[in-house]
Amino acid sequence: MRKIAISTIMSLLIVSLLSAPGHAAEKPRVAVQWDRGLLVEGQIGRVYMDKNAVLFRLENNEMIKTNELRKAGDSFRIYSFKYIGKELFLGVGGGYFFHDTTATTYNTPSAVKKKQLKDRVVLKDALFPIAKNQYRPFTDSWGAPRSYGGSRPHEGTDILAKKGIPVYSATDGVIENRSWNRLGGWTYSIGYEGYSLYYAHLSKYEGNLTEGTIVKRGQLLGYIGDSGYGDEGTTGKFVNHLHFGIYDESNIAINPYPHLKYWETYND
Ligand SMILES: [Zn+2]
Repeated sequence: MRKIAISTIMSLLIVSLLSAPGHAAEKPRVAVQWDRGLLVEGQIGRVYMDKNAVLFRLENNEMIKTNELRKAGDSFRIYSFKYIGKELFLGVGGGYFFHDTTATTYNTPSAVKKKQLKDRVVLKDALFPIAKNQYRPFTDSWGAPRSYGGSRPHEGTDILAKKGIPVYSATDGVIENRSWNRLGGWTYSIGYEGYSLYYAHLSKYEGNLTEGTIVKRGQLLGYIGDSGYGDEGTTGKFVNHLHFGIYDESNIAINPYPHLKYWETYND
């Protein structure tokens, strides 16, 4: 039997009311489309390059011009802004900024869009699957091209960590699958509230969490590794990391990145 939390129902309801009037019975959207892509957690706008422009870096409260050139026609997510005197700089993440000049156009999402994004985060109480300070800062690699096993878009988020670092269950749930997968190596799929959470490339499983086993949020599942991209036991084809995926009730992959960022920021 599937449990569905009231909060999940409420947030899905709000999203469907906002985004699909007259179609409330339809499956609610989990992604928020805005301009040329998905609006992600922490994003405050998007900048469009009308001309080539260089990036600036903030050092000791001064903006230093870098050699990093961005080409006309490109666009970037903006996560912060900073005034140096009256000059506005738009932060693209990683400590880099664009100078708000005639070379760029800046758009911000509406309040409705921001509310959709907030309501859209699924599994709001989930735990980040790796302990603080045991993994590298991670980026949104959703849709990035992958070539092993045929050309395909990346259906998850990669979190780099050293081999052997513990991986914990983000949620309560039931083990739907624990097996070798040619792409994912040693993997788990864990079902919770209609979603399936996928943990891949493990070096080792913890205990005997076989299909049907109930797990608790925060329970040790296994250890970071580099398994996959071949027959059972293949390792060393890429750097050690956790590939984390989320699949919805229809087994459609959704971008785990904003959810991971939310869990990382708000949940212990
Ligand atoms: Zn991956």
